[in-house]
Amino acid sequence: MRTHAVAIVGSGPSGFYAAGALLDAEDPPVRVDMFDRLATPWGLVRAGVAPDHPKIKSVSTQYEKIAAQPGFRFFGHVCLGEDVTVDELLERYDAVIYAVGSQTERRLGIPGEDRLGSLASVDFVGWYNGHPDYADLEPDLGASRAVVIGAGNVALDVARMLLLTEDELRGTDTADHAVDVLTASGVREVVVCGRRGPAEAAFTTTELRELDDLPGLAVVVDPAQVPDAAGDADLPKATRRNVELFRKWADRGDGTGDRRMEFRFLRSPVAILGDGEDGPVTGVELGINRLETDDEGRVRPVDTGERETLECGVLLRAVGYRGVALPGVPFDEATGTIPHTEGRIEGREREYVVGWIKRGPTGIIGTNRKDANETVRGLLADLAAGTREDATIASAEEVEQWLSQRCPDLVDLDGWEAIDAHERAAGQDGGRPRRKVVDRTAFMALVREQARAQ
Ligand SMILES: Cc1cc2nc3c(=O)[nH]c(=O)nc-3n(C[C@H](O)[C@H](O)[C@H](O)COP(=O)(O)OP(=O)(O)OC[C@H]3O[C@@H](n4cnc5c(N)ncnc54)[C@H](O)[C@@H]3O)c2cc1C
Repeated sequence: MRTHAVAIVGSGPSGFYAAGALLDAEDPPVRVDMFDRLATPWGLVRAGVAPDHPKIKSVSTQYEKIAAQPGFRFFGHVCLGEDVTVDELLERYDAVIYAVGSQTERRLGIPGEDRLGSLASVDFVGWYNGHPDYADLEPDLGASRAVVIGAGNVALDVARMLLLTEDELRGTDTADHAVDVLTASGVREVVVCGRRGPAEAAFTTTELRELDDLPGLAVVVDPAQVPDAAGDADLPKATRRNVELFRKWADRGDGTGDRRMEFRFLRSPVAILGDGEDGPVTGVELGINRLETDDEGRVRPVDTGERETLECGVLLRAVGYRGVALPGVPFDEATGTIPHTEGRIEGREREYVVGWIKRGPTGIIGTNRKDANETVRGLLADLAAGTREDATIASAEEVEQWLSQRCPDLVDLDGWEAIDAHERAAGQDGGRPRRKVVDRTAFMALVREQARAQ
């Protein structure tokens, strides 16, 4: 049986797990071309996961092993929808897998959301992680208090990043521009607001626990907001562990420390405040909720009508990521995902989906492996069924020729490895895993230097 060719659009965890599963297949054998709109692979492992979590980021070594396998190629600076179209890929490959993740944020839909200083976590996370799209964000962190809206791990990441000391930041791969702003920041207090209670929050216990490892950080919770121990037995294990932690912090009182992270539950933002229509953020008006359990057992926040105002100079919105439609690909606006059955895109042949754009922005990195395996199983079965056995697909050389004409800033695997080596070497002096390059011209200078040296 001939070697089949599969294009994977997106080089985050889901794209790599799909590539790994495809390259492991022997019947039929498959080669993989992986595309990304950025010069650099690994998606949110590079541009999302917090820089002070190097262990989690080191999952990238798995992706390096996949990339080193015969039959794998990487093409960076190729954006589906801008540089190439779906039809052009389908003309050249037996199958196409979309692994583009969730590229934007969910909105709060409240007045003042677009004021200067009201930042989407997507932008802020991209900024401190050196994502080229957000390098120019220039957040003003002059005020002493920041508010984070959201009760999940992304909210916790941005809250923690705002409070890390210079020492804690220096050993990380935080982008240089962000290290400069964060170390000069005036923020000493971050208030994290969740619309429901501690038992309903989506933080994982591991992420919460590590707050205790940050010297000089006082974690503050109002005891009145934490359910009492009598109800603990009814809670699932993970929830109980979280509630116990919040109770410990509540019992400890205000604590001492020059930095303070407060969790304020049962709060929904109703307006982001500032001078006039579009003056910068000066505070947030919060609605106070009570909890109600509906007929299906879901705990819902209900507005009591009471309000409180919290002054702040910056407000981070961390209420979830959201998928973006790809031109020419079906899209469900309600869920922000591509409709599919077990990874096969509905109403399409030879088009498949994996990762966050398949199931929405949930789960941990490892969840994408199971998810990608499901899709690849179906894809391989379809290939084995031989529907395209006689099709003429482009050879590896033809694809390369087409791309190099189409995309003047093309970055291949050698180009990325040159960027990677440069970043790691540049980080060595400061004891950092890498010093990130964030600018397209600088990426291309490294790629061209590597090509000349070959
Ligand atoms: C802030 C943050 C922190 C996180 N921290 C953790 C953590 O600590 N631990 C953990 O287990 N999980 C964490 N996660 C979750 C984890 O990052 C995701 O599960 C995972 O990245 C999803 O993988 P994906 O491949 O679907 O999408 P992504 O990782 O987003 O990858 C998508 C890729 O597609 C590319 N792309 C997008 N559009 C196009 C296009 N049109 N053409 C070409 N390429 C395109 C993007 O550039 C990107 O490289 C975190 C997520 C976020 C947002």
